[in-house]
Amino acid sequence: MPAHLTLTTALDRTTAGADALAAFATAALTVTALAALLFGAVALYRWSLRRHPYTDCRMCKGTGRRRSRLFAHSVGHCPDCSGTGLKPRLGARLLNVR
Ligand SMILES: [Zn+2]
Repeated sequence: MPAHLTLTTALDRTTAGADALAAFATAALTVTALAALLFGAVALYRWSLRRHPYTDCRMCKGTGRRRSRLFAHSVGHCPDCSGTGLKPRLGARLLNVR
């Protein structure tokens, strides 16, 4: 085999190895950056749940009272929120954040 062909093949292998290493480094950095972003988003959401664990009750719109459908002048406590007008947020219930 001629010497110039051997040298060219060896150079191609070195370049291909460097390209593969660069691609791996880029992929590793991307995965790490995405993991860091995901962790930050989850931490921010948990902080939000800890600070504001409740939302308005949908049935009474946060008033804690519900008007009777039969007698429009009568009002009672909302049975869904026990008259507080508050319901735990979905994340607070799922992640058990208090
Ligand atoms: Zn309610």
